[in-house]
Formats: sequence, C-alpha cells, structure tokens
Amino acid sequence: MGLRLLRRLSWSVAAAVLLLGGCVPGTVSRLPSPEASVRLQASPPPAPAVPAQKSAGPPDRVGGPETVTLAAVGDIMLARGVDTAMKKHGLLYPFARVAERLRAADYAFANLESPLGVAGRPIPGKGIWFRARPEAVAGLVYAGIDGVTVANNHILDYDEENFLETLAILRQSRIGVAGGGEDLAAARRPLLADVRGIRVAFLGYSQFADLYWDRRYPRSFAATERRPGVAPAREEMVAEDVYRARRQADVVIVAYHWGDEYVNHPNEAQRRLARHTVEFGADVVLGSHPHAIQGIEWATGPGGRRALIAYSLGNFVMDQQRPVTRESMILKLILSRRGILGYEVVPVRIEAGQPRILEGEEARLLLEKIQRLSADLSQSQPGG
Ligand SMILES: [Zn+2]
Repeated sequence: MGLRLLRRLSWSVAAAVLLLGGCVPGTVSRLPSPEASVRLQASPPPAPAVPAQKSAGPPDRVGGPETVTLAAVGDIMLARGVDTAMKKHGLLYPFARVAERLRAADYAFANLESPLGVAGRPIPGKGIWFRARPEAVAGLVYAGIDGVTVANNHILDYDEENFLETLAILRQSRIGVAGGGEDLAAARRPLLADVRGIRVAFLGYSQFADLYWDRRYPRSFAATERRPGVAPAREEMVAEDVYRARRQADVVIVAYHWGDEYVNHPNEAQRRLARHTVEFGADVVLGSHPHAIQGIEWATGPGGRRALIAYSLGNFVMDQQRPVTRESMILKLILSRRGILGYEVVPVRIEAGQPRILEGEEARLLLEKIQRLSADLSQSQPGG
C-alpha cells in the first residue's frame, strides 16, 4: 500500500512535466524532472484530456486520473549467472538500481524469461534450461512488477510441472500473468488490470511456441485445449483475442516474443505481425526475445487510433556479456481511457546482470542509437 501511494505521488510530478514539456519528435531532450529522466520522443500527443497541471493534483474522485503511466521492460532472467550474483549480493540485487523508477509508474510489466520453483525436469534436448529459485520472486515484488508475459521460449524449460509451479508462485505474489495458463483458453485470456480506473488488457504470444527439441519427446510450449502452456503467435487467434479484449478494456497491449537474436532491427515477419496486430485494434505492441533493443514506431489502427510498436525492449535482467545484449530501456507509456498518448524512453545498461539507469553522455549515446533505429523503421515499410 505504501509503495502504491509512493508510486502515485512520484509519478504525478513526472507526468505534469511530460505533458507540459514541449515536444519535438526526433530530438533528444532532457527533462527538468526530479528524476532527471531523459525523453527520447513523445510524438505530438493529441491535446491532453485535462489541463496538465491537473495530473499533479489529487486523482479525480469520480473517474480517477485522466492519464496513468506504465513501465514496460524486456527479458527478466533470474537463473544462471543472475542467480550466482543473487547468492552473493542478495535476492533484490537484480533490481537494486531500477526498482525506484519502476515503482514510480502506475503499473510495471515485463517478460519473465525464466520459470521459478524447484519442480520439474529439464525438457529433453533443449540445451539451455533456466529455472530460478522460488524466492527470486521477491525481486519482482520489490521492483513493483505488477504483471508479466510468460509467452516465451524458456518458461517451460522444466516442463509442465514447473510451469504450473511458476504460475502459482506468481499468483501468490499477486503478479498478473499474460500469455500462458492451464490450457489454451487460459493462455489466451487477457490479463486485465485496473490501473487507477483505466482498464488495461495484456495479451502475450510466443513465436516459438510450436518448437520442440527431441522427436522422442515432442512437447512444444504451446498450450492446447487439454495441456498447459503458452499462447502461440498465430494471427487468427491474436485477431480474435484483441477483438474480445477491446470490449473489456480501454487500452489493449500485446506482448510478443519474437524476432532474431542479437539483431537491432526487426525482421519482416515482426513488422507484418505488428502492423496486423494494430489493425486488429491493439494500442501497443511490445516485443522481447532478440536480447537486443530495436526501434519504436507509431502506427495507425482502426478509426485512426494511434498505436505504438516497440519491436524489442532488449534484455532487462540477464547475464549475457556481448555489448548488444547489455543495452536496455524502460519504456514508459502514457495511457488514457482513449489509448496511448505518448511515451518516454529511459536508457538502461546491464552490468553484471544488473540494469542501471544511464545518465549524461552514456544516456545520450544510447538514446541516439534508439532514435536511429526508430528512424530506420520509417524509411522502410514492410510488404504484405
Ligand atoms: Zn527468449
């Protein structure tokens, strides 16, 4: 409760700054906010629903605030080298330098790349298996992570038994789950969050759900009518689910696990699926898996509705060493009942498994890179 209140108060100040601040697309500017946050691009938001100074006041008693903020991050992997670091420095180590910033948002969402628990056995043939200790969930709670997508290529590394254990641990910790469940219907069901009166629906899908690694054990990660697992990134399902979620929520966010590893540009399939997802009615598309950041672009949905596509948020908590795998970001979305109004990129670098918010010259350089990657997108439009 204390954290929630803290989160509310600190955001109010930042929101006012963001909405009041002049907006020049394509420029990097430093905001005079107390958090010294750096805005990459907020795109000209349509006229704010209320005078900006209202954001700094108490929430409207009847309808709640007009805008809320959502912090989205990429892959969180709490096993292997990150586990070693936690054994040395404590369970909260992975989030020590970013928790405050994440908690300052009204809602925080991530891709949980490692299952949690002690149950299960490594799925045959896979080669890389992640499983974090159950108590590692304390870090997610400490960082104020409210919801995760589990639709990815590691969440069933220790098979069904551990997958179900992971879901149970998350639920006990009051962390919402999208993209996976006890059967296909559950995996496709949106995670519905009431973010201070604004209803946000999260859906999650994995492009790798149909893969398996051993012909004698052809167990893919995809959920079926009778089997737990993740939601596969099949367009006809996404279309149905987004359509349904649209009627239940003010804002629909679709998280995809997709793309090519260690590549800073989305591939054609990502771009096509993203565009179709926006046409189905999603407000935001969030990507993860490449272990590298990729560009961000605006798109137009049904009825001229503005939508944002972030092709890959990169790693967030991860033990990989290559420089490209250590570039990261917190993507702050400004949401209203009518969809997405703007966004802000907080540049992050991962050091020894631990994300750190960049400042000064380091921040400027990474923001410029993200800006370049985003500009590249507008110069090439996908076919199909
Ligand atoms: Zn992945």
